[in-house]
Amino acid sequence: MRIVVCGAGYAGVTLARSLERRLPEDVELVVVDERPYHLIQHELHRVIRRPGLADVIAVPLDSLFERATVRETRIEAIDADERVVRCADGEIRYDYAAICLGAETAYYGLPGVEEHSIPLKRLEHATEIRKRVLPLLDSGGRVVVGGAGLSGVQVAGELAALAREEDAPLEVTLLERLDSVAPNFPENFRTAVTQELTERGVDVRTRAAVRRTTADVIETDDGPIPYDAFVWTGGIRGPGALCERRPPVRSDLRLDARTFVVGDAAKAVDRDGEAVPASAQAAIREARVVADSLVGIVESWDAGGFGPRPERFGFDSPGWLVSVGDGAVAQVGPSVLRGRAALALKASVGAGYLSSVGAVRNAVDLVDEELGIAGLVDRD
Ligand SMILES: Cc1cc2nc3c(=O)[nH]c(=O)nc-3n(C[C@H](O)[C@H](O)[C@H](O)COP(=O)(O)OP(=O)(O)OC[C@H]3O[C@@H](n4cnc5c(N)ncnc54)[C@H](O)[C@@H]3O)c2cc1C
Repeated sequence: MRIVVCGAGYAGVTLARSLERRLPEDVELVVVDERPYHLIQHELHRVIRRPGLADVIAVPLDSLFERATVRETRIEAIDADERVVRCADGEIRYDYAAICLGAETAYYGLPGVEEHSIPLKRLEHATEIRKRVLPLLDSGGRVVVGGAGLSGVQVAGELAALAREEDAPLEVTLLERLDSVAPNFPENFRTAVTQELTERGVDVRTRAAVRRTTADVIETDDGPIPYDAFVWTGGIRGPGALCERRPPVRSDLRLDARTFVVGDAAKAVDRDGEAVPASAQAAIREARVVADSLVGIVESWDAGGFGPRPERFGFDSPGWLVSVGDGAVAQVGPSVLRGRAALALKASVGAGYLSSVGAVRNAVDLVDEELGIAGLVDRD
């Protein structure tokens, strides 16, 4: 039997590592990704201010797997009917597959937005944002971040911290179409994030949907905003290999009997019928459930039986965490923390994830960077 894991992000790495440990040796495991590393995307915004962090958050794939075959190639399409993954360098047939390709940036056809903005999904994007912003630290100017979800909030916080660190006349404006930042999250979390952003110098504008952009002005529902650099974190769409769609899946996370879709690539609802937020946290948890399903399938396949009912995913989030420059906001159950406790929690969650995938050195370096950023550890 051959199981193919398409994509080595949070979902793909968690799933493939679990299967490696639990499946018999004669099940062939193939992991396909176009990059040779697993990107710790939830720390990507940090690279804008701390370019050295790029090495810490890009974990080489060959250090993560023991027996899975890693194939570095671009997936062009997935034909679930034929059970074939079509790659730039050939085809891979599968008995079971998990599509863990994440999401891409959506521009919703807004005139000029794709042309004039920089997204933030890859290391190269963080480098490009830094390159665009550095000259403004001397000359002054305004950076606009469009979209105040988890990534937009953290990018705006990072840019404001960079300006403060350099004592630069840089304005950072965060635009959100709806009436609050982090609009998909609980109210006490949204309120704390707004306070943290405002106190750290970010100009937060809600009900400010972006309508169109020229080379120097963004037209919004809140009026025109002149800008010098524009970062777009306003939405996601499905990966190219899925024709830019995020297929809807139920709590068994299956596209069909042989193909699962896990993480941001799918629009999932959990077993209570709740929409699952696109997040690293959900991707990891979904992957654990799909690993259980696949282990059950392999066991019954070997016993010659009908496949068992797949496991069902319930998204009981323990809370949410975002950094806002040198600060952070953590929602743990009904409580919301800010300040050093929240930042320490964020560092430990990130490091805990890295350790769980065996990247212990990266975990140590991440804690050092995160706590060093806030002056909580002495670097000398
Ligand atoms: C700046 C930023 C901050 C964030 N902060 C948080 C946070 O604080 N908390 C949180 O929970 N979430 C956060 N997120 C969201 C989180 O990073 C995503 O939800 C998460 O990465 C989704 O995991 P995934 O495994 O579905 O996809 P990804 O992690 O995106 O992995 C997809 C993988 O598929 C590969 N791939 C894609 N297309 C192809 C192809 N055609 N061929 C081959 N390989 C391909 C990619 O190279 C990648 O390795 C943040 C995101 C950003 C950008």
